[in-house]
Amino acid sequence: MLDAPRPDEAIAEWRARFRWQIPARLNIAAQTAGLWAHQAPDRTALIHVEEDGSRKVFSFAEIDRLAGRLAAGLLHLGIGRGDRVGICLSQSPEAALAHMAIYRIGAIALPLFTLFGPEALAYRLADSGTRAVIVDPGRLDALMSVQADCPDLARVIVTGPEPVPAGTIAFDRLIRDATGTPPAILDTAADDPAVIIYTSGTTGNPKGALHAHRVLPGHLPGVQMPHDFPPRPDDLFWTPADWAWIGGLFDVLLPAWAMGIGVVSQRMRKFDPEAALRLMATERVRNTFLPPTALKLMRGVPRDRVPADLTLRSVGSGGESLGSELLDWGREVLGVPINEFYGQTECNLTVSCNQRIEPSPPGAMGRAVPGHEVLIVDEAGQTVPDGETGEIAVGAPDPVMFLRYWNNPAATEAKFRNGRLLTGDMGRRDADGLFHFMGRADDVITSGGYRIGPAEIEDCLIRHPAVAMAAVIGKPDPVRTEIVKAFVVTAPGVEPSDDLARALGAHVRDRLAAHEYPREIAFVTELPMTATGKIMRRVLKQREATIGD
Ligand code: ATP
Ligand code: MG
Repeated sequence: MLDAPRPDEAIAEWRARFRWQIPARLNIAAQTAGLWAHQAPDRTALIHVEEDGSRKVFSFAEIDRLAGRLAAGLLHLGIGRGDRVGICLSQSPEAALAHMAIYRIGAIALPLFTLFGPEALAYRLADSGTRAVIVDPGRLDALMSVQADCPDLARVIVTGPEPVPAGTIAFDRLIRDATGTPPAILDTAADDPAVIIYTSGTTGNPKGALHAHRVLPGHLPGVQMPHDFPPRPDDLFWTPADWAWIGGLFDVLLPAWAMGIGVVSQRMRKFDPEAALRLMATERVRNTFLPPTALKLMRGVPRDRVPADLTLRSVGSGGESLGSELLDWGREVLGVPINEFYGQTECNLTVSCNQRIEPSPPGAMGRAVPGHEVLIVDEAGQTVPDGETGEIAVGAPDPVMFLRYWNNPAATEAKFRNGRLLTGDMGRRDADGLFHFMGRADDVITSGGYRIGPAEIEDCLIRHPAVAMAAVIGKPDPVRTEIVKAFVVTAPGVEPSDDLARALGAHVRDRLAAHEYPREIAFVTELPMTATGKIMRRVLKQREATIGD
């Protein structure tokens, strides 16, 4: 199924030769633990590191065996094909087993972030009509408080110590009691639904993107590019991104397992950049996906506190604009280039770079990953010439493309035009085939007749040593339609001042263009972010609108 470049092959040859080889029938469980339990049963699948540093190691055979028992337990509870099963667990063996067991019986996994409050949980559970939830004891109260709002929720399975509260089922007991022959992995079609992943909710209510089993092989080229073509000896993946998001689940855990590579897991209650660096050194992590926000926080760790014995081979990043400042920092401190990628929950990992063999200059995200047709289109859905700005779109069919939004035919219909998926992101492709991200369509600023993308200005601002984080929006203006306004979090120890604001304005004007410099700068202590660490510019815009009233 893997169509990687041969060792002596140029990437251009690989691109030309690339063909999808996706079987008509496949199941994510059979492609991961099920496969390697036979091919390399004793190989390490998961290293779980507790917060106190203690570790538990699982082989592929063990994962497959335990997942088989959990699958039997779920069937015994009356959960079966097509049922939605929530996984409200942080990175852990239980979360990985839950995924394997759910795919095994043809049910649909619904990953839920453990830091969701009751409202966020209720919204997703009710919207998806979820029948059962596997939950951490820490989130049980939040879940029980909304059970009445989730009419389909019949079973609550709790991990951790027994006994569990009345009316719930113990996860460990479910596995312990399933002593018979485990159910075989269900023979599903590549297009059968496997997982619903809700978008980050950066621009509005999160939408449940329903994906088929084929989404996993669809991700492999997009993981191979930025990670410099795994599997290689000693490869070991880890990400601080929770497995409840597409970036943790389909950029790390499941593709690593599809390639027979081990994964490190840790429950991170709050991202601690120094602890993350230490974990990578101690566990000898070789491949990591570090979202831009994580990188920005790591950048704040004093150099003498960065472990000298990092063993990284590949670092990928994406989900937000990365910016050239972080690229320089990564090369210097992590010792390897950071390879950017681009995608979204509905259609992930379609653009990427590989700085070693296919360099991408600062400001560009990379090229279309082999197997994906990525285009720039105008408002009528027509392809625009290279160099022109338009909306980033993806040609169908594509194995990473979602089946539909759960329960939302209107949103699904609006997502496609001319048989192409519209990303809602603006960008351009240059003559070398490199894609440049301008901003989400909703975030693009119209000022004095110009269309300005926030990404470039934010990148320019964070290159200034006094700036830790920056967000740029269009503020309504009677003369210019909008003016560029920047919200800036200063670097540790830097005091905001009018002089600094003027200096930052000049910094942008000198490097970008006069019409792009922020006419207003507000210093803030933090920026509104989604649980995935994305800046919610819409919240800043709403704030401006209310202040203006
Ligand atoms: P919602 O759709 O609910 O508003 P969201 O779009 O943030 O939330 P995700 O699917 O998690 O939810 O994020 C995908 C989006 O992240 C992309 O559409 C794009 O705007 C942004 N993104 C992804 N990769 C990059 C990148 N390399 N550079 C800039 N932005 C990126
Ligand atoms: Mg989106």
